[in-house]
Amino acid sequence: MIEHDVLIIGGGLSGSRAALAVAQNYPHLSVGLISKVHPIRSHSVAAQGGIAASLGNVDNDDWLTHAFDTVKGSDYLADQNAVQVLTKSAPEVIIDLEHLGVLFSRADNGKISQRAFGGHTYNRACYAADKTGHAILHELVMNLKRLGGTIYQEWYVMQLIYEDGEVKGVVAYSLETSEIEVFRAKAVLMATGGYGRVFNTTSNDFASTGDGLCLTVNLGLPLQDMEFVQFHPTGLYPVGVLISEAVRGEGAYLVNDLGDRFMANYPISKNRMELSPRDITSRNIACEIMEGRGINGGNYVHLDVRHLGKEKILSRIPFAREEGLRLAGVDCIDHPLPVRPTAHYSMGGIPTNVDCQVIGKDSKEITGFFAAGECACVSVHGANRLGANSLLECVVFGKRAGEKLGAYVRDRTMPKLDPSPYIAEAAAKLKGVLSNKGNTRISVIRQQLQDTMTEHCGIFRDEARLTEGLEKLQAIRDRYDHDLLIDDHGAVFNMEMMQAIELKSLITVGEIIMSSARSRRESRGAHSREDFAKRDDANYLKHTLGYLEDDQVQTSHRPVDMSLQNVDSDRFTPQERKY
Ligand SMILES: Cc1cc2nc3c(=O)[nH]c(=O)nc-3n(C[C@H](O)[C@H](O)[C@H](O)COP(=O)(O)OP(=O)(O)OC[C@H]3O[C@@H](n4cnc5c(N)ncnc54)[C@H](O)[C@@H]3O)c2cc1C
Repeated sequence: MIEHDVLIIGGGLSGSRAALAVAQNYPHLSVGLISKVHPIRSHSVAAQGGIAASLGNVDNDDWLTHAFDTVKGSDYLADQNAVQVLTKSAPEVIIDLEHLGVLFSRADNGKISQRAFGGHTYNRACYAADKTGHAILHELVMNLKRLGGTIYQEWYVMQLIYEDGEVKGVVAYSLETSEIEVFRAKAVLMATGGYGRVFNTTSNDFASTGDGLCLTVNLGLPLQDMEFVQFHPTGLYPVGVLISEAVRGEGAYLVNDLGDRFMANYPISKNRMELSPRDITSRNIACEIMEGRGINGGNYVHLDVRHLGKEKILSRIPFAREEGLRLAGVDCIDHPLPVRPTAHYSMGGIPTNVDCQVIGKDSKEITGFFAAGECACVSVHGANRLGANSLLECVVFGKRAGEKLGAYVRDRTMPKLDPSPYIAEAAAKLKGVLSNKGNTRISVIRQQLQDTMTEHCGIFRDEARLTEGLEKLQAIRDRYDHDLLIDDHGAVFNMEMMQAIELKSLITVGEIIMSSARSRRESRGAHSREDFAKRDDANYLKHTLGYLEDDQVQTSHRPVDMSLQNVDSDRFTPQERKY
């Protein structure tokens, strides 16, 4: 059995920031970080456009305006106390990153430069060209190594150990050798990122399979607001990889087959145009396509940057140009890029309080269990996240989680735990996966799942499609349980075995998303019900909780925290969302 005072699952921005905070502030504590990929290959490395903070280097900005933009962007579903923590701490965490060595792009006066992003009133996104996640993650991981944090890379966490109402550690296996280990800890932080792979077109990497969410619901704990899936407006067609919002931040146009900048034709987006929030922009693109105004009547529109000129394109958005060339054969200096919405981000996740401690159905904290980053739902994004607020969430709440964890474990003794039954159970599970002798390959079941989710729970939803989708998911789960075929029976880097386990996570997470979507009979933020087209504050200004009971998904609700209202009374009370 391996032991650490603090155990962190995930080496992306949130996990590595948390681990670093423990190492910086509590050098006598031992911190272990487990990641199924090398930490620097976590999806955070792909983040491009920026990280929001009201530094005020370009405009006269302040945290309260950032907070208001975030709450309005969230369609009033974000917890306002959490938004306050996020936006108030933003400037200091950026300076802190700079001190750790992150090379931000500069304005002419030498200060950190800031660019425009959708839904933000001011130029607020700090950036490192269009490779912001890369710049930050490398420094975090290097600093963590320098301070002696232990990293278990290419270890797959397959179970959380939860006994007597207390999280005591995890069971993981080494991808390199298939060796199984129990890791015991005084506290565990989940930082496992998103689940984009639930959908057939996504900007997310192959590892974004919602494992941490599935591990959590398997304990009987709830996930919050899972119906809110962000579809990013500009996925490169047809592959789905992201063309960063920074491209629109720098002035790109969205154009339909008629050559119109169609954002002007929708009352809700005619002022902010291409820099409207993502939910609105994605819906408008989807409408253009559905109504036959996609390019040549097809499934995409154009993102045009030609008017920016070669020099600006090469200095500000070089990566977007490279992606267009490499993946679509289009050089955006001379031609518009083909784009359509792509599944991008999970607003929902494991519910936590502002100290990142996981809370159960009754809103009480779960002993020894914390979560941060995209897998968590401290609820700063509510029903729709603003661009550049996610990297910020990872760094603010990652840092905060590390600081809280250090203090939390100081007075805790190592929990009592017998590893042997867990090792035996995990070995039996892996053996069970390998001994599957069905007829259907993982890729076939995964494709069915992704197509079902996209068709029945995509940008637009309704009761009939969701109900039918849930029935299809049940059939997909049955097929997984009874007809899975695995070819690789090796013990070394058996990626097929890992994909089989990941697929189970995807199915479970898909069921919770779809059930939560069916339970919310209104339209809010990224959740658009064609049969309930209006926002309904009287009945649904509350968070959804989705959980498993006797293997069936159940849903209930809990209130939104509106405590920031007192700071600036009118601004933060729900109003019609117009831009
Ligand atoms: C292409 C792209 C561009 C983006 N650009 C921006 C941007 O410009 N600004 C912005 O604010 N946001 C952006 N985002 C969103 C943002 O990057 C993510 O929300 C954020 O980086 C998530 O970080 P994380 O630490 O929560 O998770 P991740 O970075 O996804 O890391 C998850 C970690 O968990 C580990 N893990 C998962 N499951 C297991 C398991 N079973 N066992 C062991 N380890 C496991 C993985 O190995 C990985 O280390 C972008 C997202 C994408 C996809």
